[in-house]
Amino acid sequence: MPVDTAFLDALNPEQRRAAEHGVGTAAGPLLVIAGAGSGKTNTLAHRVANLMVHGADPRRILLLTFSRRAAAEMSRRVERIASRVLGVGSGAVSDALTWAGTFHGIGARLLREHAHEIRLDPAFTIHDREDSADLMNLVRHELSFSEKATRFPTKGTCLAIYSRVVNAQGDLDEVLKSVFPWCAMWSGELRQLFGAYVAAKQAQNVLDYDDLLLYWAGMMSEPAIGAQVSSRFDHVLVDEYQDTNSLQAAVLLAMRPDGRGLTVVGDDAQSIYSFRAATVRNILDFPGHFSPSADIVTLDRNYRSSQPILAAANAVIEQASERFTKNLWSDRQSEAKPVLVTVKDEADQVGYVADCVLRSREAGTPLKQQAVLFRTSSHSGPLEIELTRRNIPFVKFGGLKFLDAAHIKDMLAILRWAENLRDRVAGFRVLQLLPGIGPTTAGRVLDAIGNSPNPAWAFSEVPAPAKAGQSWTGLVDLIGKLSKRETAWPLELAQARHWYEPLMEGQYEDAAIRVADIIQLEQIAAGFPNREKFLTELTLDPPDATSDQAGVPQRDEDYLILSTIHSAKGQEWKSVHVLNVVDGCIPSDLGTGSTHELEEERRLLYVAMTRAKDELHLLVPQRFYVTQQTRNGDRHMYAQRTRFIPREIKAHFEDILWPPVTPIRSDLLPKAGLSVDLASRMRGMW
Ligand code: ATP
Ligand code: MG
Repeated sequence: MPVDTAFLDALNPEQRRAAEHGVGTAAGPLLVIAGAGSGKTNTLAHRVANLMVHGADPRRILLLTFSRRAAAEMSRRVERIASRVLGVGSGAVSDALTWAGTFHGIGARLLREHAHEIRLDPAFTIHDREDSADLMNLVRHELSFSEKATRFPTKGTCLAIYSRVVNAQGDLDEVLKSVFPWCAMWSGELRQLFGAYVAAKQAQNVLDYDDLLLYWAGMMSEPAIGAQVSSRFDHVLVDEYQDTNSLQAAVLLAMRPDGRGLTVVGDDAQSIYSFRAATVRNILDFPGHFSPSADIVTLDRNYRSSQPILAAANAVIEQASERFTKNLWSDRQSEAKPVLVTVKDEADQVGYVADCVLRSREAGTPLKQQAVLFRTSSHSGPLEIELTRRNIPFVKFGGLKFLDAAHIKDMLAILRWAENLRDRVAGFRVLQLLPGIGPTTAGRVLDAIGNSPNPAWAFSEVPAPAKAGQSWTGLVDLIGKLSKRETAWPLELAQARHWYEPLMEGQYEDAAIRVADIIQLEQIAAGFPNREKFLTELTLDPPDATSDQAGVPQRDEDYLILSTIHSAKGQEWKSVHVLNVVDGCIPSDLGTGSTHELEEERRLLYVAMTRAKDELHLLVPQRFYVTQQTRNGDRHMYAQRTRFIPREIKAHFEDILWPPVTPIRSDLLPKAGLSVDLASRMRGMW
């Protein structure tokens, strides 16, 4: 029976070539390398749909995206394209694409399923970055490095160094020399620290983010297990390949050693994650690695942005020191140039944005079609206050999350500890919630538990510390119940809340609000089948923060999107505002160290600009204090418009001052006969 592929008519010939590449045969490796908004993700979705209508089993398709949100969006797109042709009901396609997710999420799942084969305990818990830093800190103290010298790297820096070595698959001394030169003198101590950190993780059966990739790669390097894991999939497709690191590339190549069934998609001009050891070399070296069998498709038509927006974005990236081969064009004609808005300060900046957003909404652009982007999560603070004041609902992607609030972390720690009583970071957190229990007592309790073959029993045998009072018995009882899974999921969360509530009341003035937050957490939990899945998913990819403390906005509600530029990757909106387009911010003061870093900052601005379809506003607050590091310490200066928009390319923008300057009324000017030569005095100042 002929297959109905009319849906492919929506694609242009190059996109179609990619979507049809080797369908029905054992396709060789395919690389789609193309600029922003050229339909890479769309093509990938069509390719998956096309594979499915040609009989590929969706449960044997591995789809790797940059965030869980992107994976869900991709599944929805495939659903829209394929469900009619496949004649299946709504939700069937996305439900069947069970292996769509991030590298870390998929890694966690594969490791649990294959744990026994690599002698890993499948009940491992996952540490997020903060937990990892806490554990690093514990180990650092145990080794007395922090006491030895006050200038020993902080827990965050130690973790960053460790993570860099793992993800870049590099050598510690090399990494220290090239990225953290000021820590090079501690090389010996750091090596010892990292060894102890790894041992601590293993003893406690916890994996950090990096382990999810490292263990996955390790599993793949065992020939028999590697072959078994890779044989679970017929197709492996990766979006945003330019932002993978060498460990991820190693995993990927091990999943498809001969490249058959492998599709990667990306844009070298949008590589913005080298600070997390991502390397654009992965995408550039792809053809060579699989030479001569790799097929390459390039796309040069941008379907997203209006021509003036694209021209401005192209002008920014054209000045890069590296050359990108693409020359994107768009036939979406428009009169409206992107706008460079000079405002006095941050207060005016948020005033301008809020006004504009409301005006666009009145003109028919829903809030959801509008986004405000910024370099660093903390830069949205003043805007969040203004939006709340004006009752404009918003959701924030990236940055500080609901889950980072202390009381929410406490609840999660209770669950995590019950899941794995050897997890010392979780245990420390939970035990210290009790009155009178500090790190020493907590450490003693954890030692007793950790040394026992039956931790739950050992905990129940620990004599109650003197000052802990009633809540101690409550905790022993709670943990006992949770670890034996006596209560149905997600009711156990409510059970934990009942234990925690009186303690919160003693500790926080706003306990009632915190309890409401926890109830919200219980609602989120209800969406997960069990505790393990809930903890894994939440640790890897927490839900986004909302302006509405009472609950996550419903899907049909309208809200403005606030996002860091990094988290805005791959997305698009009708109207985009970018905050603080000034030197010291884009490029960030940290980013001006080397040409390499500077170029990444330029690409970041390019990514931000290419998110816009019809309207783009870049804001330049003049009174935005930036810090410049000099030999004599930090210097605070007024901001300048970003160096990435020099005078030569300013013509691509409409340049406005806001609020508009009121012209000086001539009748108020002094009449003839100025006694002072102001002009020469002004010149004399310089
Ligand atoms: P990015 O580099 O930002 O990830 P991308 O290359 O993945 O972008 P998409 O997000 O897939 O681009 O597509 C950008 C926009 O162009 C989307 O709105 C998509 O629907 C539209 N588009 C893509 N291909 C076509 C096409 N052939 N015809 C019409 N619209 C298209
Ligand atoms: Mg994309």
